[in-house]
Amino acid sequence: MSAALRRLADLFLEARRAVAFTGAGVSTESGIPDFRRPGGLWDRFDPSEFTYKNFMDSVAGRRRYWALGQVTYPVIRAARPNAAHLALAELHRLARLDCCITQNIDDLHQRAGLPPETVIELHGNATRTRCLACSIAYTRDEVHEWLEARDEIPVCPACGGVVKPTTVLFGEPMPAAELREAERRSRNADLFVVLGSSLAVYPAAYMPAHAKHAGAMLAIVNLEPTKLDAQADLVIREKAGVAMTAVLEAVRARARGQAPPVPDAAARGEAVVRRPAS
Ligand SMILES: [Zn+2]
Repeated sequence: MSAALRRLADLFLEARRAVAFTGAGVSTESGIPDFRRPGGLWDRFDPSEFTYKNFMDSVAGRRRYWALGQVTYPVIRAARPNAAHLALAELHRLARLDCCITQNIDDLHQRAGLPPETVIELHGNATRTRCLACSIAYTRDEVHEWLEARDEIPVCPACGGVVKPTTVLFGEPMPAAELREAERRSRNADLFVVLGSSLAVYPAAYMPAHAKHAGAMLAIVNLEPTKLDAQADLVIREKAGVAMTAVLEAVRARARGQAPPVPDAAARGEAVVRRPAS
């Protein structure tokens, strides 16, 4: 384990209210492409056509949206939680994680076992939809079946209203309650860990700044530099899955009353000294 990962594990062990903040990098480790990347979806589709306004204002706008969704939703549905999702869920079970604020819409934190009330989704959730007229909720699986079965845009079977995914579309404000809750949890955190986010999308990216200003330790785990690296107490250029697996290992080792094992030494063929189990 590198010194930086050891330090991250120590921060989790010392923290009383650790908050994780996850971005697209955590989803890409489950095989969900980052649509904003070169070669991604927005090179093939024009994002300006998929705005909230276009969706709300016209049948044609909704038709284009759902046509795109027929391509993207099966990818999200087929994805499975990765090591980062699983480690965060386990850290919560071990009372080492207060909550997870996420920019991701793929439901993978919940599917990994994080209780839904501990996942604060700033950009909504692609597995759910709602009728904008009568508020009945439909699963995205249901709506996807309607799309596959008949070539029509989804309308509410109960009232004929517009059915909208609960994801935040371009130009749509973030959900106010989630935003407030995320700010509150960020300000209450004593450790705030960014995982797989370049912190480029606001207002979500203000969360680590809120936490830092309120006195939290700030750790950033991302493969590329972020705007907040200079303010962070710890910056790790690593995949979220690798980093959080190391953290979980250290937390479990502490729980067993042992020092964490040293996998790097084993990999180099050196002797690994382990304390006998007591
Ligand atoms: Zn309805």
